[in-house]
Amino acid sequence: MTEYQQLVDQFKSEILSLCIDSKENLNNFNDYFSLLAHGLNKYFTIQDSILFRLKGNSLKPNYTDYQFLNELTLNDVQPLLKSHYIIEIPKIVQKQNYLQNHTHIMPLIVEQSILGLIVFKCEDETKEAYLTPQLVQEVTKIYQFLLDSYKMQANEDKYRKLYAITDLFHSTMDIDVILENVLVAIEENFANFEVELILSNDQDRQTRVCIKPFDYLSERPSTIESFVSGEMKEEKASELDCCLLNAPIKGRQAIYGILQVKAPLKYVFSTTEKEFIRMLAHASGNALENAKLYHQSHRLVSDLQLINETSHRMNMKLSINEMLLFLQKQLLKSFQPKEIGFFFKNENQYKSTEVCTGFFQHEEVQIYIEHIEKHFEVTQDSLFIADFSRLIDEDIPFKSIMAIPMIVEEKINGFSIVLHNEPYFFSFDSFKLMQSLIHHSSLAISNSILRDRLQEMVDRDHLTKLYARRFSDNYVEQSIQKDDSGMFLLIDIDNFKKVNDSFGHQVGDEVLVQISSQLQQQIGTRGICSRWGGEELAVYIPNILNNEALKIAQSIVDIVPNKTNPSVTVSAGLITWNRHARPDFQDIFLQADTALYSAKRNGKNRYCLFADSMQLQH
Ligand code: GH3
Ligand code: MG
Ligand code: MG
Repeated sequence: MTEYQQLVDQFKSEILSLCIDSKENLNNFNDYFSLLAHGLNKYFTIQDSILFRLKGNSLKPNYTDYQFLNELTLNDVQPLLKSHYIIEIPKIVQKQNYLQNHTHIMPLIVEQSILGLIVFKCEDETKEAYLTPQLVQEVTKIYQFLLDSYKMQANEDKYRKLYAITDLFHSTMDIDVILENVLVAIEENFANFEVELILSNDQDRQTRVCIKPFDYLSERPSTIESFVSGEMKEEKASELDCCLLNAPIKGRQAIYGILQVKAPLKYVFSTTEKEFIRMLAHASGNALENAKLYHQSHRLVSDLQLINETSHRMNMKLSINEMLLFLQKQLLKSFQPKEIGFFFKNENQYKSTEVCTGFFQHEEVQIYIEHIEKHFEVTQDSLFIADFSRLIDEDIPFKSIMAIPMIVEEKINGFSIVLHNEPYFFSFDSFKLMQSLIHHSSLAISNSILRDRLQEMVDRDHLTKLYARRFSDNYVEQSIQKDDSGMFLLIDIDNFKKVNDSFGHQVGDEVLVQISSQLQQQIGTRGICSRWGGEELAVYIPNILNNEALKIAQSIVDIVPNKTNPSVTVSAGLITWNRHARPDFQDIFLQADTALYSAKRNGKNRYCLFADSMQLQH
């Protein structure tokens, strides 16, 4: 063996063993190449080796530090192919400042194609002693070995990372953690590329991670194609100046979205890169699916508990308001809407109940109610609107709507509605749960409404719609016990017989109704008005000062002649009390009657306040 051959062998073996022994310190391809550069220097006194490495259609200097070196096109280096072994600096690179005297080029050629070239400096003696076609061949082999080793290591790294992520995916049911790690994995492996998670709509909306909802209308065809087919799709989007790689996030049961990597337009994803992205998307799809199933089963259990608890409560014979308040609390807890309302049909119109949040007292609510009324005119199906602003031209405050009808004996009795300002706020699962809740409560609510209506019928007088005597008696009796003061006014129409005689009983009835509605208007919710007897009406107001009681009595006497047709006057007997002298329940009526009698005797069309000096009427 010649001395030269020995040198070449030593050179080779040193690089190979360094490559194997110091694998942990070799982080990128420059590190690998530096083993070769170091060997060339040590054994052949070749200096300043710079690698031009083939990437796409050009050869690029390996060191980004050497910015003064330009890349070379394959055309530039075409002449090198013929020589296989060039020592002199060729014309093609003379234009580069760095390549001055004593600069040489060693092409790395395998099967008629250039893998790269090494530019280096050496003295003339070196050139003569060492630079042989054999060395070029050996260096080419070593270079190829280093390149393969580097690729293998890079791949190994990627798969190790993928393995670590998959491992993590298997250990978590936290959807955020899964999504976050998909993004991190792409960012780590494709540092300069943008990445986006485009997830279909039925995902849980409250994720920490920034995702883009999948929108069939605006997504690019390649994204939709990938989503529908479950295959990876690549697209050169020249108008966006980028190359898009869409990988489906696919589980065993469904496709949940797309992992989209955005590379520069001219970038070509290698097979291993694509495989890595595909496997990552696939692993995340499986992990997402597992997490979803896990959460779903938990949710189903808690949904059932909720429905159970609600049904139980509803059957406790609560008042309608208690029921609705409870239901309101449940809806608020389960769906976090901004507004909740309950509407019931009354004489073919939906009327809001007391248990509605603020917005339902507002004018603006009309547009919502009209839409829902129209919907329920044609169907008994529940209404789920993800973005109301798409259906309405006006600017509206709430975009997400769920409205569930309360159906009893196949008829819509009313509906419950929840609103949220954000579009797509309620999930389809929420919708189904709300349907169950309302469905399970409808019968109890309707029964309660019927019960209330029946009670109302018993409590009210049919003709005048004022409270009946029995109701009034109870009310007064309780007020005397619990309130601080009160007034009772007994009203009798003057000369009512004459009205009946002159105009007929029916007109007499109308006059009674006119006076009754006038009383209702005057008293409102301060107290109660009742039909005491035939043409005798009564007003009771709790917690009222004496002065005010007198004023009210006077105003009633004053207003009746103006509000009746034919005009009639009334006489009234007033009694007031306070907590210093709580009257006996029966006395209240006797005293009021006595005062009324006094008013009649004193000329009618007036009221009298009871005084002890009056003779009680028996
Ligand atoms: P006064 O000023 O003394 O009260 O004279 P009056 O004619 O009103 O006499 P009184 O109060 O004794 O008469 C009651 C009359 O009211 C008798 C009855 O014809 C009439 N009346 C009682 N209930 C009704 C009713 O429901 N509808 C009608 N139309 N009339 C009634
Ligand atoms: Mg009378
Ligand atoms: Mg009368």
